[in-house]
Amino acid sequence: MENLSHWIDGARVAGTSGRFADVFNPATGEVQARVPLASKEEMDDAIARAATAQVKWGATNPQKRARVMMAAVGLINRDMDKLAEKLSSEHGKTFVDAKGDIQRGLEVIEFCIGAPHLLKGEFTDSAGPGIDMYSMRQPLGVVAGITPFNFPAMIPLWKMGPALACGNAMILKPSERDPSVPLMLAEIFKEAGLPDGVLQVINGDKDAVDAILDNETVQAVGFVGSTPIAQYIYSRGCAAGKRVQCFGGAKNHMIIMPDADMDQAADALIGAGYGAAGERCMAISVAVPVGEGTADALRERLVPKIEALKVGPWTGGDDVDYGPVVTAAAKANILRLVETGIAQGAELVVDGRNFSLQGYEEGFFVGPHLFDRVTTDMDIYTQEIFGPVLTMVRAESYEDALGMAMDHEYGNGTAIFTRDGDAARDFASRINIGMVGINVPIPVPLAYHTFGGWKKSGFGDLNQHGPDSFKFYTRTKTVTSRWPSGIKEGAAFNFKAME
Ligand code: NAD
Repeated sequence: MENLSHWIDGARVAGTSGRFADVFNPATGEVQARVPLASKEEMDDAIARAATAQVKWGATNPQKRARVMMAAVGLINRDMDKLAEKLSSEHGKTFVDAKGDIQRGLEVIEFCIGAPHLLKGEFTDSAGPGIDMYSMRQPLGVVAGITPFNFPAMIPLWKMGPALACGNAMILKPSERDPSVPLMLAEIFKEAGLPDGVLQVINGDKDAVDAILDNETVQAVGFVGSTPIAQYIYSRGCAAGKRVQCFGGAKNHMIIMPDADMDQAADALIGAGYGAAGERCMAISVAVPVGEGTADALRERLVPKIEALKVGPWTGGDDVDYGPVVTAAAKANILRLVETGIAQGAELVVDGRNFSLQGYEEGFFVGPHLFDRVTTDMDIYTQEIFGPVLTMVRAESYEDALGMAMDHEYGNGTAIFTRDGDAARDFASRINIGMVGINVPIPVPLAYHTFGGWKKSGFGDLNQHGPDSFKFYTRTKTVTSRWPSGIKEGAAFNFKAME
């Protein structure tokens, strides 16, 4: 079994706390590695080293920092398959999906190549007589990123890219469930020319996170994960005077209007509902057809497509649609919620509870489920299931559907499927949700826009990646300078004569 490590000062370093977590192969259920869980002392030491390394990195000109990003892009592309294989083996998602995970992170590194432009300040010429005023964006110092299991390449890259390009040192605390890819990315950044100590990957659990929150050197914390932990980190980090942004859970609604192309809507729901076994914060978990006729037409198309889904290990071939969920505990929680759905009166149209795969009986596979006639008081509606379970809530009208999505406590993503531009426009304008798709089921913004949810899906006032990230990872200094008239206006070069 592999013993994983931390990444400190440009090298793999064994943990010293004596505490470890198991890293599973979700397809077989076997433990394939052990990851060390850092103590407070290990975390404090890594932060202190990062602070020393940051001084020179922060003073390196932005163009040189951008060249490290440029080199990293080439190296990540070079190692794409190797990274994706490791990612699939620890997370369980298909090989193609693992490459997508890396790709969407890579695009943020590409965006960060523009750091010299993005870090340009503002300048006012002649704000007063002989007075100029200018602002600079300066790095914060040491910042931390705490990331979830479901995108072990993308989200660490979303954190690392902007933080490092802005001249900060970063402490990355990845998910303990799939920690290998972040360690591989740290190696790649070293090869790309990142100085040692500027990126420290410290593995761990709550102890490591609390050590980050309690450490006065850490200036900012960016978190992605479940809402209860997001709220905890946001409140504790803010109370400690840090700059904090936390992105939490989701329950994304897709509204299907009666005029929508039903085949297109059904296809979109299959990909967005069951892709990555539903373990995406932008997955669609609630389908809201408007009108009974729409619901019946949609259901009729969905059922055969769901029953035809191929569930298997990432090694199972290109036609595997989705893999296992990440742990036995995740599987148990999904199946528990399915039972509550049945008990609370929802109609289980496709039942994936008894799914089993020959040769992989111990794997964490969950068959696809479809619930119809779900109501908004049921646990399967109010809670994030984070599994291959699509719920259908029938709405009587557009206003009913809109109100439903607006009343839900989460506000990460949403979509409307319609041929009516007026309805689409109204929806985009009125909905209280951060990312909106119009005939697009998973509207993840590209790297040069920003990503972030509203309500209980996002805490803090700036989003991830895009221009917001360069604001989050820098602070503004404004200089007012006055140069009184000097030599050019009559300095005396000769000895004064008698007046
Ligand atoms: P999680 O909250 O369990 O873990 C996230 C991180 O927090 C991990 O690094 C973990 O080690 C740490 N952590 C866990 N428990 C902690 C505790 N008690 N104290 C301090 N730190 C703790 O989330 P997860 O299961 O890894 O990821 C899935 C969740 O992330 C889902 O809710 C999903 O919706 C959400 N997510 C949100 C976004 C977004 O952008 N909004 C993106 C991806 C995932």
